[in-house]
Amino acid sequence: MTIYQNLIAGEWVGTNATKNINPSDTNEVVGLYADGSAEDTKNAIAAAKAAFPAWSRSGIWERHVILKKAGDEIMARKDELGALLAREEGKTLPEAIGETIRASQIFEFFAGEALRLAGETMPSVRPNIGVEITRDPLGVIGIITPWNFPIAIPAWKIAPALCYGNTIVFKPAELVPACSWAIVDILHRAGLPKGVLNLVMGKGSVVGQAMLDSPDIAGITFTGSTGTGKRVATSSIEHNRKFQLEMGGKNPMVVLDDADLTVAVEAAANSGFFSTGQRCTASSRLIVTEGIHDKFVAALTEKLKTVVVDNAMKAGTHIGPVVDERQLKTDIDYIEIGKKEGAKLAFGGELLTRDTPGFYLQPTLFTEATNQMRISREEIFGPVVSVIRVKDYEEALATANDTPFGLSSGIATTSLKHATHFKRNAEAGMVMVNLPTAGVDFHVPFGGRKGSSYGPREQGKYAAEFYTTVKTSYTLA
Ligand code: ADP
Repeated sequence: MTIYQNLIAGEWVGTNATKNINPSDTNEVVGLYADGSAEDTKNAIAAAKAAFPAWSRSGIWERHVILKKAGDEIMARKDELGALLAREEGKTLPEAIGETIRASQIFEFFAGEALRLAGETMPSVRPNIGVEITRDPLGVIGIITPWNFPIAIPAWKIAPALCYGNTIVFKPAELVPACSWAIVDILHRAGLPKGVLNLVMGKGSVVGQAMLDSPDIAGITFTGSTGTGKRVATSSIEHNRKFQLEMGGKNPMVVLDDADLTVAVEAAANSGFFSTGQRCTASSRLIVTEGIHDKFVAALTEKLKTVVVDNAMKAGTHIGPVVDERQLKTDIDYIEIGKKEGAKLAFGGELLTRDTPGFYLQPTLFTEATNQMRISREEIFGPVVSVIRVKDYEEALATANDTPFGLSSGIATTSLKHATHFKRNAEAGMVMVNLPTAGVDFHVPFGGRKGSSYGPREQGKYAAEFYTTVKTSYTLA
């Protein structure tokens, strides 16, 4: 089998490799991908540093053309790349193709943004002096990504980093190197100068750690677990480096008595279980008022009975497998914890056997949960959802906000008063009314509060906050 290598200083390198395994069929090796070393990482950082002066002064048309070419190629290959994504990560083929289209749209968006770079000019308070405010690129950006969105998250970090004139060392998650390799290959062929984008696949403890330890990385953008996020933060403070973190969520979805039941059930099923519950915006706490509680639970349970869990590549599959054995164990452990804590297992909880060997788990619904239980407080990152019964809207809002996290928050209601109040008072970076908590657009800010996020928002024009630094210049006229 060929080894998909790392890209360092414009050359494909690396002879050590690890297997990329399909979670829908563990007999299938998706490919062999390079397992980079600390030395490779140092070389990549040096290459990115060397490439920065020229790239930071490159013309905006050159950046536009490269980003646009990448977006166009990803769109043209959406079915093939979507299939690769479904095979390495386990989300269903339609979900994976949707994510690939989104990656393309992100490149198209930042291709446009490259042509809209602008600053401000204003008079000084002192006579005969002009002031200009411009944005400079940061320098070398370290990009560390998780496994749950193998093409969209790399796209939403790589595209703005390049658009604003930075160079990159990119380390994807160990479990999903294939989509990352594909987009780096596309950008390389689209004409990026040597060293502008370096790919170092490998272990977090080796490649990731070497990035954190480097004084030559000007900014790290990270999406992943809270534990690793803390490491990024402390190392970045030490190096006086800018950093941006997107970590966990325990996103609430409130369902009020006046909700449209069909809308509420669709939103809850989508938020909680699609993409196997492996989205940081997934809703794992359904906070339901008394008057609709039993009807809602009955309707959601009926819906879950119709959900097909199977091989991600099979037509008709609604939910693919869990990503790997370690995550499956976490999910099962939390199901046991929920039972021991006294929540009622209303649906699911069992492992499933399918034609191909994979990590198949039934969507799992707990009822009679309290907001103090571990299953309601800790991020599980699987298809495991708890229903919490509350008296009224006020208790629902207080419960929704009573969490260490603050990424996304949703409400199902037909009341303008409650929807408006909830939008204003939900302690979250993103609020959804009559929509799933997951599923966001590519051209608007993405990010959270409290324990979920740190630093400026990602995506849309707000991305410039992280990938640039402001310069104020004064000129005597
Ligand atoms: P998860 O538990 O979901 O895999 P992680 O935070 O471990 O979440 O992984 C997110 C990303 O962080 C991955 O690319 C992983 O390789 C990387 N990573 C893990 N450990 C470290 C570390 N010590 N330093 C830098 N990056 C790391």
